Amino acid sequence: MPPRKRARVPVEVKTVDREAPDFDLLSVIGEMPVGDAACREDRHGWEPFVADRVQFGAVVVRHRIRRCPRCKSTIETWVHPVSGEYMRTPKYDYRVAKGSTPGYLIKGLGAFHGAERGALRLANMDREEAVLAAKSNRRG
Ligand SMILES: [Zn+2]
Repeated sequence: MPPRKRARVPVEVKTVDREAPDFDLLSVIGEMPVGDAACREDRHGWEPFVADRVQFGAVVVRHRIRRCPRCKSTIETWVHPVSGEYMRTPKYDYRVAKGSTPGYLIKGLGAFHGAERGALRLANMDREEAVLAAKSNRRG
């Protein structure tokens, strides 16, 4: 039997409209928590979170959930115990916005390409510089 779906608590997801005349990518990046912005730049750093075995009909399927320590997004996979092939399409669960706090998932934002990736990288470097400067000031 496939695993039961977890009950989902509805949360408000931040939505942006890239086509809007006042769309400002840098301000969207600036509102993201530093870890989420880092995941946008570097991709997720998946770590073990759940590892078990689930009965799928006659087969005991290897099941795992890995979680990103920075943005808390997860990827869940169900794999054949012998061949290692996927028994189901891997399922991503991106941390979503709660109230006014943007999460990793921002509807309408999509992927960053070309010059946008450069802008994201520079914005992240500015923010990381500020984090390090603040740490250094606290020490001194
Ligand atoms: Zn992440």
